[in-house]
Amino acid sequence: MSVIQPQPGIMDIELYVGGTSSVEGVSDVVKLSSNENPLGTSDAVKAAHGKTGHNLHRYPSTDHAELRAAIGEVHGLDKDRIICGVGSDEVLQFVTQAYAGVDDEVIYTEHGFSMYPILARMVGAKPVVVPERERVVDVDAILAACTDKTKIVFIANPANPTGTMIGGNEVARLADGLPNGAILVHDGAYTEYVEGFDGGALLVGARENVIMTRTFSKIYGLGGLRVGWGYASREIIDVLNRLRQPFNLSTIQMSVAEAAVRDQAWVRKCRSENARMRAWLAEALAELGVPSDTSTANFILARFADQDEAVACDAYLKSQGIIVRLVAGYGLPHCLRITVGDEASCRRVAHAVGQFKAKRN
Ligand code: PMP
Repeated sequence: MSVIQPQPGIMDIELYVGGTSSVEGVSDVVKLSSNENPLGTSDAVKAAHGKTGHNLHRYPSTDHAELRAAIGEVHGLDKDRIICGVGSDEVLQFVTQAYAGVDDEVIYTEHGFSMYPILARMVGAKPVVVPERERVVDVDAILAACTDKTKIVFIANPANPTGTMIGGNEVARLADGLPNGAILVHDGAYTEYVEGFDGGALLVGARENVIMTRTFSKIYGLGGLRVGWGYASREIIDVLNRLRQPFNLSTIQMSVAEAAVRDQAWVRKCRSENARMRAWLAEALAELGVPSDTSTANFILARFADQDEAVACDAYLKSQGIIVRLVAGYGLPHCLRITVGDEASCRRVAHAVGQFKAKRN
């Protein structure tokens, strides 16, 4: 054992798994495992990239003023209640560092996003898992699990990897039922895929105990950029800014993200294309005997007979150069999460699942 010991609990943190983009021996690979946008980024974003290159001898702004102003303008939000981070992951990390510590409890749900328990453990807090109802967040179960040690409740809405969501009234009931001193994190990584949904902005606008987080990694097609943001009360934003490194975002990150948020036509195009192909894929898989819940995001949670079949199908897809995600770590060992790709990728994955089923039956 090393003479230098880390803080208690750090070695209990499981490393985040995911992100593979190659298959040994296969050259024509389609990656449907990370919920990335198959249409990529908009032309406005590509144009911004070149312009930005001229100013890189200067340090970036420390307060992200222009990016926050653009986000505020586009979404009708107060720019002084916005914080930007290196992906929404960083904003989630600030919230956890700010509001939970050793022996505190951090609640997340049965099939919740894998970063939530990792973040809780990073600060020495206890991750508390609450059951869902048929793969849907259960507000009553969360409220019943709250104690005076509960400091943070994380829900993603739409949720990853189930793709399900709960309505605004349910989220409000959750926020209003939390014990004093607990904060609700309404993680809106997939908000933009839901037509007409504000990601909980109105809810946050009227409450002191909620933060909404958003990302450029999904519908904006900028997973490689690493920019996310949060919206909360001025008091919360002030606290989180104290944990932020002054230059957490580069000039390039901010400029590209600003061009992206100002191009809402691209977001609308990606949303409608995703909805079209998601419906097609869900139906194609269902016809092959692989059902899924109605997804509100850019992926489908495909359910197989059991873990054995899901693992075998994953292996078969990989042999065909198709990367999807096994989600046993999310308590869903019989499922595969499949990102809704472009039309060709969706057809390819449905065809391969069909071949797999034919061989197996
Ligand atoms: N929340 C959820 C529910 C997610 O699925 C993801 C990405 N997998 C994130 C947050 C983090 O996204 P990012 O850090 O890329 O903004």
